[in-house]
Amino acid sequence: STAPPALVVEGLTATYGPVTALREVSIPTEPGRVTAVLGANGAGKTTLLRTISGLVRPQAGQVRLGERDLTGAAPETVAGAGVAHVPEGRGVITELTVEENLRLGSLLGRRRASGRGGPARGWSLDDVLELFPAIAERRRRPADTLSGGERQMLVIGRALLTEPDVLLLDEPSLGLAPRVVTQIFAVLRDLTEQHALTVVLVEQNARSALEVADTGVVLALGRVVAVSEAAELAADQALRHAYLGF
Ligand code: ATP
Repeated sequence: STAPPALVVEGLTATYGPVTALREVSIPTEPGRVTAVLGANGAGKTTLLRTISGLVRPQAGQVRLGERDLTGAAPETVAGAGVAHVPEGRGVITELTVEENLRLGSLLGRRRASGRGGPARGWSLDDVLELFPAIAERRRRPADTLSGGERQMLVIGRALLTEPDVLLLDEPSLGLAPRVVTQIFAVLRDLTEQHALTVVLVEQNARSALEVADTGVVLALGRVVAVSEAAELAADQALRHAYLGF
């Protein structure tokens, strides 16, 4: 199969009316690697993901995936190109069973949409259930019976079933017990490497995020104030104290 396409996020500026949420933000990404985007409340992390996925149209800058220019494209176009966005708050459909929620991913996915067979990944429902045994046991139950951690597994699994090359995750650790965060991040680490996914992980939990990430970007007031290898950022005490809260 062909090499996965490279995601390019360069010079993004985005505004909400008079509020400038992003100022010329570029982030490094690479297939098989996790890029953590860190920073305080209001730093612009969510806006960055929303701008990549087409929910916010940038004033300047570029989003490209392989040969395709996705700058300012509609969300369904970006999704169809292989970018899966898992927003904060999870989006589990509580009236459906776990399995029905997962099947929505396949329905909305690229294989179905394009009829072309999608990219190299080829995720099946069984693959996802194997990845997350906790939700496999509950596949016939209504999704509202799941814990917070299991819901997070469900939405990541659903995103994988859309056959993405790029996974955008907004605060997957929010509200979860530390043990569950460790578990989900370990799975994320493995599947990023094994499937050459390009992952952009937005987190307020900087300590855990830097443990799973290869590269870290720190945003403050919509600007990039630091970008480096994750281990290097984690070792920088002044930066940690000023921006990362640990
Ligand atoms: P959080 O972790 O709280 O979501 P964040 O780093 O994701 O923070 P954003 O949500 O991207 O930050 O917000 C960046 C800036 O844009 C903030 O000043 C915020 O108040 C503002 N903002 C976000 N969404 C909107 C909106 N829909 N309308 C107006 N301003 C907004």
